Amino acid sequence: MPHEDCIFCKIINGDIPSAKVYEDEDVYAFLDISQVTKGHTLIIPKTHVKNIYETPNDIAGKLFERVPVIANAIKKAFNPKGMNLINNNESFADQSVFHLHIHLIPRYDETDGYKLRWETHSDEYTQEQLQDISKSISNHLD
Ligand code: 5GP
Ligand code: ZN
Repeated sequence: MPHEDCIFCKIINGDIPSAKVYEDEDVYAFLDISQVTKGHTLIIPKTHVKNIYETPNDIAGKLFERVPVIANAIKKAFNPKGMNLINNNESFADQSVFHLHIHLIPRYDETDGYKLRWETHSDEYTQEQLQDISKSISNHLD
């Protein structure tokens, strides 16, 4: 069911034009209008799901199964030096469109426009603390 007022549902339906890269019965891939780098592509499930938290296994499987296909097509087209896959969930983590999407961002050089960097904190944790953290998470696996 398309979600009312969802721009990505409208793109899937053709109500909003897009530069389509790939489509099958389960997924749709198209150029991100922001083109952070040349070839920046979004792949989305045709079923409207808000983000990764609300994604059933079968939809996740079908979506991620197609990611390497799209990634390799971008690689063959533009021969980037690398590629970042990004998935933002919730506003705090920079999700701005609330229909699950994976960004495929080909990387060309240090000044290609991609900015994400993070710091390591590995020296701030003991093995015991890491075990506690991993247990906190694994206790909640359904
Ligand atoms: P988010 O910030 O939620 O991770 O990513 C949403 C992305 O959707 C943004 O990078 C933005 O450029 C892209 N976007 C928003 N509206 C449109 C649109 O109408 N057409 C296309 N092709 N991309 C869009
Ligand atoms: Zn949608």
